[in-house]
Amino acid sequence: MHLTLAQQALLKSKLDAMKQDIQAELRQHNPQQFAQDGGAGDGVVTDVLHHDAMSQYLHHHAEWQALQRAQARLSENIADICRECGAPIPFARLEVEPTAERCIQCQAAIESDDQRLHLHPHSSM
Ligand SMILES: [Zn+2]
Repeated sequence: MHLTLAQQALLKSKLDAMKQDIQAELRQHNPQQFAQDGGAGDGVVTDVLHHDAMSQYLHHHAEWQALQRAQARLSENIADICRECGAPIPFARLEVEPTAERCIQCQAAIESDDQRLHLHPHSSM
C-alpha cells in the first residue's frame, strides 16, 4: 500500500459520492417506491429505500459492484495494487477512476483484446 491516509480518505469520499449518485438515480427510476422522499434529501434516504427493489436492482448493477469491490480493496489496503500483475496503480489514475482495479498496462492489454475480438468476430480459418 503506497497511498497516504489523505489519499485513502479522498478515494473513500469519491466512492461514497458515486454511491450517492447511483442511489439518487434509483429514486428517479422508481418514483412510486421511493415516494417518501419529499425533497428534503440530506443523506438519510438510504434507510428509506425499498430494500427488495434496491437489492434486486443493485444485483445487476455493474457500476455498483465495481464500487463495492473498490471499497473492499480500499479497506484491505490494496486499492493501489493491480489485480492482474500486482504492480502499483498510480494515485493519479485512481483519482480519475476510483474503481480502477488494474494498472494502465493491464487495462490497455485487456481493452486491446476486446477490440480485436470485436473487430474480427469470425477469425479466418
Ligand atoms: Zn497490472
